[in-house]
Amino acid sequence: MQVRYRYRIYPSPGQKQMLARTFGCARVVYNDCLRVRDEAHANGEKISDTEVQRRVVTLAKQTPERAWLGEVASVALVQACQDARRAYRNWFDSLSGQRKGRRIGHPAFRRKHHRQSIRLTRNGFTLHGRRLYVAKIGDIRVKWSRPLPSVPSSVTVIREADGRYYASFVVERAATPLPACDREIGVDVGLSSLAVTSDGEVIGNPRFLRAKERKLAQAQRALSRKQKGSANRAKARQRVAVVHRKVRESQLDHAHKTALRLIRDNQAVYAEDLCVSGLARTKLARSVHDAGWSQLVRLVQEKAVQYGRTFARIGRFEPTSQVCSACGVKDGRKPLHIRQWTCPACGTTHDRDVNAAKNILAGRADKSNACGGNVRPGLALAVPGEAGTHRSSA
Ligand SMILES: [Zn+2]
Repeated sequence: MQVRYRYRIYPSPGQKQMLARTFGCARVVYNDCLRVRDEAHANGEKISDTEVQRRVVTLAKQTPERAWLGEVASVALVQACQDARRAYRNWFDSLSGQRKGRRIGHPAFRRKHHRQSIRLTRNGFTLHGRRLYVAKIGDIRVKWSRPLPSVPSSVTVIREADGRYYASFVVERAATPLPACDREIGVDVGLSSLAVTSDGEVIGNPRFLRAKERKLAQAQRALSRKQKGSANRAKARQRVAVVHRKVRESQLDHAHKTALRLIRDNQAVYAEDLCVSGLARTKLARSVHDAGWSQLVRLVQEKAVQYGRTFARIGRFEPTSQVCSACGVKDGRKPLHIRQWTCPACGTTHDRDVNAAKNILAGRADKSNACGGNVRPGLALAVPGEAGTHRSSA
């Protein structure tokens, strides 16, 4: 299976300068790609991938406004074209319904003050002993926090908004199956928690994380009070970026531990299919928890492949929070503030979220379940995570 391994890297001042230039060129090429495709789309013109690349790289280099593109590694520019093509394709597939999950919007233009990155395939980098050689940048010092499991097929060099640099390698890793066990579990996103299991466990976010989130909000308020373009604003932005990294790292760590525990303790983990939850969720639950939930689901899926467990998404017609998990009677819509209800048919009292998780576990056997009218089996076995350009996994 393909996974990402991420290490902190320490470029020299000269390398930082050269990286900044490469990031800038890759960003411009990426944005130019989107613009060229948007224009072609608006004019009803069909444009091939090679033509896009020719216009934004080869031809652009010959113009005075874009001549500086010639100063950086062209492999990074070609990859930027590929990334833009992928982002555009994802958007189109989502529009036409070919892509599962929630609708995604037009790909965002890359911005200067955000995280910067370049992606390189085998012809753009090599490992020189303990150092990472990047085309036109040189040998960069790496902190090898753990050994690479295999020779990487690509690397993404990243500068986070807080100024730290990372290298994220895509590597092949062999599965290490755990001894089988006979427990199974259903998991659903909770209204005010990260996840709820069919065993009745509520997995919340730990207190230290909430404290960090409060600090982030504070830093963001401070930033909004600073004058545009001022030195204090730049400092405040840096502070926000640092707190943001701390929150992100804690969230990821917590999600990793939760996912590992679910996979270790259970032979199979079931979660509701996203395309259903996208319709069924209220705005409130969606905005607050969905980012954390999809991260958790992604990690559970990844670990299921790694440890030889089953992960499946259950597609359902009926909203899981409205159906009694004891007798199957549908009891109608319930407003958000209703956390507990009693089934009128069998008299069982349910916690709203736990009941939904139980229904998800029960739904595993019902293979006739379809999702959103598409004919799709209720069980979709775990597949290795694609080595794409996912922000969260890079
Ligand atoms: Zn009932």
